[in-house]
Amino acid sequence: MLPFRLVYHERYDLNIGDHVFPSRKYKWLHDRMLWTRFAVKEDFVEPQPASDADIELAHDAGWVRKLQTGTLTYQEILQLEIPYSRRMVEAFWLAAGGSILAARQALECGVGYNVGGGFHHAYADHGEGFCAINDVAVAVRRLQRDGAIHRAMVVDCDVHHGNGTAAIFAGDPSVFTLSIHQFNNYPTDKPPSSLDIHLPDGTGDAEYLNRLGNGYRAALGMFHPDLLLYVSGADPYYEDQLGGLSLTFEGLAERDRLVIRAALGKGIPVAIVLAGGYAESVEDTVTIHANTAKVAKDELEKAGK
Ligand SMILES: [Zn+2]
Repeated sequence: MLPFRLVYHERYDLNIGDHVFPSRKYKWLHDRMLWTRFAVKEDFVEPQPASDADIELAHDAGWVRKLQTGTLTYQEILQLEIPYSRRMVEAFWLAAGGSILAARQALECGVGYNVGGGFHHAYADHGEGFCAINDVAVAVRRLQRDGAIHRAMVVDCDVHHGNGTAAIFAGDPSVFTLSIHQFNNYPTDKPPSSLDIHLPDGTGDAEYLNRLGNGYRAALGMFHPDLLLYVSGADPYYEDQLGGLSLTFEGLAERDRLVIRAALGKGIPVAIVLAGGYAESVEDTVTIHANTAKVAKDELEKAGK
């Protein structure tokens, strides 16, 4: 068995049909981990959906009600960029429950991995860019409320800026947000994270790893979190349809190693969530997410020795 649990629910699929967001990737990743024998059935744990009270730790009650009752305005649905359905709402509540569970698993085992989540474009009072509920913010707030953690760091390596997360935690000294992303890309409006690393189009492995390493190590040197949430993002990949950076499979795995190793080396548990990935071939996106789990396993085993 793996040295950490994989949090997964078959209803993570947002049920949005033929859409650039490949929400079937969750099941594909789950299945891939089994047939490659990276994991066995017992490595997976199923989350409960977050409660409305959990969601409201990070979101306005009005937004939660609109999602639960299907009373979003036309404008709000446009901004979300995915069709509204009950299944979609359930999937977001499950993803948030999954990130809470992955965060708890991290505190217990050193690493937790949600085979879902990373919906970093969701703000407290509205959704954007395929993200209705910010599962990362909900997980941080729930663990803080439980007294399980005081301080958290969010390291967001999705190719898109973590605007919702940055806005939700703005002015909160207990949460450090780091976002490394392609500057000339969605979202246009980038509310400041604690540390933003804006990258030019076409940035490749070496430059990316250098910029990330410098910023991240400096952040870890001054802020000592009880938990790190790693928004791993498969979309800095050079063949991504919605990304304009040029990372290779190897560069992305090296990125994972950098983030996870530095945290575990300081005794900081790491909860991993997936976020975006829009490679021409969904198989490539699944490979990148699977590699992140492999790196986490290797790093956790090394850290334990
Ligand atoms: Zn993205």
